[in-house]
Amino acid sequence: MPQLAILNQKGGVGKTTTAVNLSAALADLGNRVLLIDLDPQAHATLHLGVVPNDETTSVYDVLCRDADIAAVVQPINERLSLIPSSIDLAAAEVELAGEVGRELLLRDHLAKIADDYDYVLIDCAPSLGVLTLNALVAVDEVIIPLQPHFLALHGLSKLLETIEVVARRINGRLRLGGVVFCMFESGTRLANEVTRDVDSFFERVGERKTPWSEARPFRTRIRRNIRLAEAPSFGQSIFQYAADSHGAEDYRNLAKEFVAASGAGQGSHAHAA
Ligand code: ADP
Ligand code: MG
Repeated sequence: MPQLAILNQKGGVGKTTTAVNLSAALADLGNRVLLIDLDPQAHATLHLGVVPNDETTSVYDVLCRDADIAAVVQPINERLSLIPSSIDLAAAEVELAGEVGRELLLRDHLAKIADDYDYVLIDCAPSLGVLTLNALVAVDEVIIPLQPHFLALHGLSKLLETIEVVARRINGRLRLGGVVFCMFESGTRLANEVTRDVDSFFERVGERKTPWSEARPFRTRIRRNIRLAEAPSFGQSIFQYAADSHGAEDYRNLAKEFVAASGAGQGSHAHAA
């Protein structure tokens, strides 16, 4: 069962939008999906209409208080579930500092419930700290959202280096599944130049065996669409908020492309439509 982290240490590139709407699209295709919000800002949690309060048990309780992970899962609809974040999670970095094996916590908790889902997605914080490390150890695949502007590739080598170190030392399964262009403005010269740069970047790195030698940009590009920016304030995925929008169409296509790509690699998607 594929487990993937949506990761880029930059903020504002489309991680949360992709994590929430790809999760919802995969669920709409008939899969049982769990989304874990691993960002203390709790944007994915809010996007799905869950407003954390003092009583909410969150991924913080799992990682720092050894809470039962199954008890923290909140159903969003028939097939989509969420493990919410909360602001407490900002303290995890410090609270776990002295803990031996702190980067293995999420993997070990997740193993108890992973069989209940066809896909597990993790929305990461914009950093490469202990929370993100927990995500990289728990998953088998990373998807990197990129915004096609001229600094798109800046910082990517640091991210790939981190993935390679985790793959070498702790999680041999880890690989880069691909990059997704978000907030894409087709027809602009800049977007075309950046996508060409990114394409040739991945063609070049493919010459050496790395966790990203097989990775490519997804063919589906997520166009800039105001409905995607509006949906979070209604606590709804794009499919509830504006099912006929370009945003819904693009994330539906991304989910299909993703299922086809991962199905070809593993052939294990009994529930995929
Ligand atoms: P990150 O999680 O990487 O910080 P977000 O997914 O929160 O990024 O996106 C940053 C901002 O851009 C949010 O306000 C979001 O609603 C908006 N946004 C994301 N993708 C799109 C898109 N394709 N079109 C328009 N706005 C978008
Ligand atoms: Mg985010």
